[in-house]
Amino acid sequence: MGYIELDVLNNDAPRVVVGIDLGTTNSLAALWQDGRPQVLAPEGLPATVPSVVHVPEEGNPLVGHAAKGRALIDPTHTVFSAKRLMGRGLADLDLDQAPVPYRVTESERKLAQVELRGKQWTPQELSAWILTGVMEHAKAATGAEVASAVITVPAYFDDAQRQATRDAARLAGIEVLRIVNEPTAASLAYGLEQKGEGTVAVYDLGGGTFDVSLLSIEDGVFQVLATNGDTRLGGDDFDQALVGLAVDGLRERVPAALLEDPAFLQAARLAAERCKIALSRDPEADLHLTLPDHDLDWRRAVTREEFEALIGPLIERTLQSCRRALLDADLEVGDVDEVVLVGGSTRVPAVRAAVERLFGRKPHTELNPDHVVAMGAAVQAHVLTGGTRDVLLMDVTPLSLGIETIGGAVAKMIERNSTIPCSHKEGFTTYADGQTGIVFNVVQGERELAEDCRSLGRFELKGLPPLPAGMARVGVRFALDADGMLTVTAKEESTGQSASIEIQPMHGLTDDEVEGMLEAGFEHAREDFDRRRVVELHTELGTMLLAIGKNLESARGALDPETIAELEEAVAAAEAARSQQELPTVQGARDRLEQASLPLAAVLMDGVVKQAVEGKRLDEV
Ligand code: ADP
Ligand code: MG
Repeated sequence: MGYIELDVLNNDAPRVVVGIDLGTTNSLAALWQDGRPQVLAPEGLPATVPSVVHVPEEGNPLVGHAAKGRALIDPTHTVFSAKRLMGRGLADLDLDQAPVPYRVTESERKLAQVELRGKQWTPQELSAWILTGVMEHAKAATGAEVASAVITVPAYFDDAQRQATRDAARLAGIEVLRIVNEPTAASLAYGLEQKGEGTVAVYDLGGGTFDVSLLSIEDGVFQVLATNGDTRLGGDDFDQALVGLAVDGLRERVPAALLEDPAFLQAARLAAERCKIALSRDPEADLHLTLPDHDLDWRRAVTREEFEALIGPLIERTLQSCRRALLDADLEVGDVDEVVLVGGSTRVPAVRAAVERLFGRKPHTELNPDHVVAMGAAVQAHVLTGGTRDVLLMDVTPLSLGIETIGGAVAKMIERNSTIPCSHKEGFTTYADGQTGIVFNVVQGERELAEDCRSLGRFELKGLPPLPAGMARVGVRFALDADGMLTVTAKEESTGQSASIEIQPMHGLTDDEVEGMLEAGFEHAREDFDRRRVVELHTELGTMLLAIGKNLESARGALDPETIAELEEAVAAAEAARSQQELPTVQGARDRLEQASLPLAAVLMDGVVKQAVEGKRLDEV
């Protein structure tokens, strides 16, 4: 298996539209041929191309198997898992927790990149090289040039990560027909949409990530009901458990420094993976590690039982995610009609058994779990280019989207797990008299206050007519397209003045963070509710005090001294409450102010504005 020469585009070659699974560990392409999706492998080679890029001292990067081979000799110039860096900042990557042998730096735009031989490589460029390797692989298999593709991404990928994937394809000269979620693709590969009705669980355990998705099929149409997962859990952890065995076994025999040498760790990883893969087939296998440079040749037999004891807790964590997804989708285990296994690590018999036990049914394993995502992408590519399988794709947004309102609360515009494409419109107004501009802060997350959510971007609507507070009518529309791109538009209704933003955040978001944000939303639900209420009350107090301040002098003569005294005390208490945070205190001050201002409201009602304000509260006058 050699390095495939990256040659110049041959424009005379026939062009095909393929599906590409751009994986963290392995990537591959599939094509609809002879009425079914087929993975593309050159004669005698596997279809998968390891998602590894090696930058040599001279010449073009190596991709795939050739690059993986260099990992041992030259780990600092060999990039694994570039997918994890896509669309993210350095701060988002827990490199302390999960160190990599290559040097990760940050660009001016605060995005992660890799320094290799004095040059900065963006994850998009690295992924473009992987895609180029996949295209060459495809070309060697079919003799055709890849013109365009459907590319899959994890369901958890946010806008920035999806955009980065598009950019990688563009750099590789591929037109992206659509970005599709991996679990959706896997279900398509099994043709489950043809069942008409039902619920599907897709369990995807790859090299470094775990994802579970629940999909419904209605009238042959797919919808993702919920997703969950763990971005730091996969076959690599199974390998790591075996590396641990090797390190323990070698501790007494070799110098301690060797056990931390990158070359040793790489060799141990590869040995562990070989042993693990053998254990998927055989009840016992050798963990065999050789490092000729250090005169090391060590082996130890590992039984499947022993291996299963090591990885049991890891498997249990994936089951926890499944249970959470079921809860989110409001489903019972018994509601799931089909279970689909995806990812190389679902070849581990203990994983299959655990999934079968949890769902109480045999999972689909008929298709190769390494190939099924690419095959589904090929089905989708076929359909998008006029092919006959009638499929409509629906996905969900994993986190809620909203805007910050006055005082820092969040108005949720699109709830998490909403089916995309979708849109929502709401009316907003100004807070201050004569306000001619509004700054909109678009946020993502499950918390009630904007400061606890992730800010995706800000934009300003200028040129509002200077009206009294609350008079301007501004319609805000959130539209999330099928690719997960968010467009937020704000429009003042009397003038038609509008402004909008299309969200391509500077920073991506780690999948861990997505999960963290979901969990924080649950954990802080009660406390958030109170804090949000306080924020709303502060806003309300501000408006009420403003109205009272405006009207008290003119109405003073019509009120008796006790009423005025009580109102002034309530005003003082309310002023104080504006900087207080305890809900009962703030609520009390507001209620008292409302009570104390009733006589004033009555006087005003009797005045000239009587008709106009009938039935309205004082603060709305
Ligand atoms: P990704 O989606 O992250 O690109 P894959 O679906 O290609 O990953 O899965 C890669 C993982 O599957 C690796 O950890 C690899 O060791 C593991 N794997 C592949 N074949 C087997 C097998 N027969 N038994 C156990 N694990 C396997
Ligand atoms: Mg995968």
